[in-house]
Amino acid sequence: MKESDQDFLLDPKVLENYSFLQAIGVLKHIDRLNQEIKKYQGLIVSAGEIFNCTSADEIMDAAVWQISDLYLPSFVAFIWKPLQNRNDVTIKGYQNYKFVDLHLNIENIIPLESFFLNNQEPAIYDRLRETLGKDPEAKPILESFDRLVPELVIPILGPKGGLYGIILVGTKLLTGKYTASELLFLRHLMSFVSQAIQNHIHYEYSLRDVKTGLFNYGFFNTRLNEEVSRVKRSGHTSSLIVIDVDKFKDFNDGYGHLAGDKVLEYIARTIKQSVRTDDVPSRFGGEEFTILLPNTDGDVAWNVAERLRVSISSMAVPWDPLLPQVTISLGITSFNRGNIADSGEIIHRADEALYQSKENGRNRTTVWQDKLLSRAEKAAVDV
Ligand code: GH3
Ligand code: MG
Ligand code: MG
Repeated sequence: MKESDQDFLLDPKVLENYSFLQAIGVLKHIDRLNQEIKKYQGLIVSAGEIFNCTSADEIMDAAVWQISDLYLPSFVAFIWKPLQNRNDVTIKGYQNYKFVDLHLNIENIIPLESFFLNNQEPAIYDRLRETLGKDPEAKPILESFDRLVPELVIPILGPKGGLYGIILVGTKLLTGKYTASELLFLRHLMSFVSQAIQNHIHYEYSLRDVKTGLFNYGFFNTRLNEEVSRVKRSGHTSSLIVIDVDKFKDFNDGYGHLAGDKVLEYIARTIKQSVRTDDVPSRFGGEEFTILLPNTDGDVAWNVAERLRVSISSMAVPWDPLLPQVTISLGITSFNRGNIADSGEIIHRADEALYQSKENGRNRTTVWQDKLLSRAEKAAVDV
């Protein structure tokens, strides 16, 4: 108990009336209030931990850790829409502090949207069920949830009211139903979690191109400048690949912009699958993409570029076999501290190489070569 409480209890008048205060329940009440204060002090600490997390995964792990410590719920599930394909969902489930597959068979959460747009706060699951149980689109989702016996559903709302996701919390494993005060506490905690996830989603949005999910031009530019500084300090070699879809105007003219957009999404997916975690695959603009490959020399960059080119040119457009194959042209430049001035120069070189690929018939990769440097100067640069 805190000093001030002890002061209060040691007050001679309180001591005089101690049995009376105890008999009418005042002391018990003070004790309860103290426990509440401790709980909410804990909540402030938890909120700090949650807002310090740097990824959605970390936020979820921190939240589950805290909820499990307090109540040990039968499960916690985070269900949210990824950046692209917003008709899809990503699910992360936990049981007993561990990440588990909860076998939730849910394709989207759109049918739940209207409920949370009307009541923008956590709901008791039974109430959600009662309201939406007869909706044919919500029904299969709720049936999938039912199996887990959730007790709470917490929305992750966007700033303008859109529903980004939900958090399902199961019943307590050990001690019966949540009390009103526990529910209130859980709601407070989860509203921090949902706010932190929301912040994280907004941050991700600000780095990404919405159509393809690749990094956007702004992020690419920042990372390229950072890489130029790093290369200048460290002396290692990095590479840049630029990619342009061949005759894409003709594709759009022939099959429409929507089919064209699907081609861009498909190329972006293939690019993502071809790169390592340190690489920076971006949409430069329109039908042009870049891949920044830190710590990567020209030979490795060539292999990445060619693998990508071949995998795109050798596959029919996957969702419609009647559409023609698309091809890409690529330009590569590698840079180290001996051969660069700034990021603009690197982009310019990769562009020149790409232009050569177009000139030579498209569907090919060209490595930038400096025609201006003499052999002796080149040898000096390569050292
Ligand atoms: P080249 O092989 O020389 O690159 O020919 P191209 O037709 O691809 O080049 P051009 O620059 O003439 O045309 C690029 C086309 O890319 C025109 C534009 O409509 C299309 N495009 C750019 N951004 C998008 C997009 O987001 N979606 C769709 N569907 N098309 C796009
Ligand atoms: Mg272009
Ligand atoms: Mg093009």
